[in-house]
Amino acid sequence: MQQVYLDHAATTPVRREVLEVMQRHFAEVYGNPSSIHRAGRQASVLLERSRETLAGLLNARPGEIIFTSGGTESDNAAVRGIALARRAMTGADRLLVSAIEHKAVLETVEEMRDRFGFKLDLLPVDREGLVSLDDVARALGDGRDVALVSVMYANNEIGTIEPIAEIGSLCRSLNVPFHTDAVQAGGKLPLDVEALQVDALSLGAHKFYGPKGVGLLYLRSGAPFWPQMTGGGQERGRRAGTENVPLIAAMAKALELAEQERNDEEQRLRTLRDYLIGALLESVDGVQLTGAREKRLANHASFVVEGAEAEGMLIALDLAGIAASSGSACASGANRPSHVLEAIGLSPHLAAGALRFSLGRDTTAADIDYVLTVLPEIVKRVRS
Ligand SMILES: *Cc1c(COP(=O)(O)O)cnc(C)c1O
Repeated sequence: MQQVYLDHAATTPVRREVLEVMQRHFAEVYGNPSSIHRAGRQASVLLERSRETLAGLLNARPGEIIFTSGGTESDNAAVRGIALARRAMTGADRLLVSAIEHKAVLETVEEMRDRFGFKLDLLPVDREGLVSLDDVARALGDGRDVALVSVMYANNEIGTIEPIAEIGSLCRSLNVPFHTDAVQAGGKLPLDVEALQVDALSLGAHKFYGPKGVGLLYLRSGAPFWPQMTGGGQERGRRAGTENVPLIAAMAKALELAEQERNDEEQRLRTLRDYLIGALLESVDGVQLTGAREKRLANHASFVVEGAEAEGMLIALDLAGIAASSGSACASGANRPSHVLEAIGLSPHLAAGALRFSLGRDTTAADIDYVLTVLPEIVKRVRS
């Protein structure tokens, strides 16, 4: 049976060139990068070369890159590390985050509120999922009591791209630290941290054809930060633990390739995505696009299907060889509607029919045609 993988927002396959880098280094570079001897130096050279590559791609300095175990850890480290340090320095205790953040940010700020006494303000979004700059400016006030602002670059469930550079500029003018969860944006949107005006930015390699279990946190030099992992002093004391050098080298290769191909791939994916969106809205009634029409990731098409349960559609699609998602791994299976769909004003009834197709490097027009052939029948069956 035809197999069509359209869940690249959940994860991507490791691409061949990246796998080769990883395998070679796993086999050959076994030293501890902190060791004095030759094997250690070999690992340390590779580690620092990878750091330089990644820093270059982000327009950052190598010393501003902290390697982590992935997007979740980067988000946790940024939120906890910056907010706790800034409160200790200045007394600022308000956290400002968008209502549609990934749970790695959202549950972390909720914990900061419930266990550590921070105040939490959620920034609302409009029907397209966009944060308003006026709301950010109003919530910031003079900024003196704000410990951290965190707004994601692109949303995983609905694909909406937020105005990060503009929010960054507002925060910078008030000296308020600004973090962005760029995990969905990695390899798809420009990551220049100067242009984006961010103090911290999270990435996870497995969203851009790198391995799982590795990511990075960009942390601007001079930003307040308390390490969340202490011990051996690695990563300039900001994240202890022996670095996983082969995975880090693989991440550098993956982002390098993604950046080289980004413009061409964006055009190609946008065309396929628009074809899917147009044809689906046409061929199935009671379907609505979720998220922004224009300001959205080029590979991302998300919908709600009225009167059809997501789970039923996903199982039927899987039987037809198509891998899709309802949009949030955490929400699938549970009966709780997604906090993102709630925030854009959808009723629980509509939100129950969420369907996300996220395209990737291997996606072809034939794949989209296949989805368009089977989906109308599936929707009819699940509805009845
Ligand atoms: C996938 C994802 C994460 C979590 O990243 P992991 O590397 O899987 O821990 C965080 N934020 C967003 C927006 C994501 O899409």
